[in-house]
Amino acid sequence: MLFPGACLVCRQPLVRIGRLPVCGECWSGLKSYHGPACAECGRPFPSSVPLLTDTPLCGLCRQGVFHFERARYFGLYEGSLRQMVLLLKFGRQEQLGYRLGRLLGDAYRFHEEVQQCRLVVPVPLHRARKRERGFNQAEALAAGVARSLGLSLNSGILHRIRPTPPQTGLSYGARRRNVQGAFEVRGRSLRGQPVLLVDDVMTTGATAHACAMRLKQAGAEKVLVLTLARAEPLVWERDAALAGSAPSPTDEGGRTPLEVRE
Ligand SMILES: [Zn+2]
Ligand SMILES: [Zn+2]
Repeated sequence: MLFPGACLVCRQPLVRIGRLPVCGECWSGLKSYHGPACAECGRPFPSSVPLLTDTPLCGLCRQGVFHFERARYFGLYEGSLRQMVLLLKFGRQEQLGYRLGRLLGDAYRFHEEVQQCRLVVPVPLHRARKRERGFNQAEALAAGVARSLGLSLNSGILHRIRPTPPQTGLSYGARRRNVQGAFEVRGRSLRGQPVLLVDDVMTTGATAHACAMRLKQAGAEKVLVLTLARAEPLVWERDAALAGSAPSPTDEGGRTPLEVRE
């Protein structure tokens, strides 16, 4: 599909006809995050003070609650990254997902633990949801990540066996219960393999935790999580609820997900 029209982020006319619905300026405006963060789950800290301790960990990681070893992301869920996440998830922009996946992979090309992984696994959608959306946005991202890092993509191993009810307003404990038993590994053993699990957005980490638990039960040696963005749960859920109920930008006269703003 070609996009001779306007950039779906800033609405300026696209000068070059290409496969992406966003302009070069919006693309180069994507900012990666390098600020203070939890050494394990990557949760951003509001200040650098926790970094002065030996192990800069958030409260959850200090309790060792997650089954994954590390979670990293390209940037914070704000600005043009936020708009592109919404386009990817609700605007049916599969090609954009692949390109964003390459961007994400490129950002971690020299990361030691990421380099040790051999297998990229996307967080799966339930098949009813995938049918409705036409594709799994995490899979589009994972394909780009795998390509960027020269790893193999396996989207047939981890399955979502029941749809997850909305997480809106739930506490961390309730979210964990909400996704418990939602995933299953089918097929081959992952014995001894470090796995790179890819998703679009991480909020509390409950979904990645549930996936990592299954991957480890199937023998995965380690699970590293890579997401495009890291978001505050309430901000993400509000956006997702508003955008999810809007028609896609390709619908005639429809509201685009990008109109979801404060
Ligand atoms: Zn633009
Ligand atoms: Zn943490």
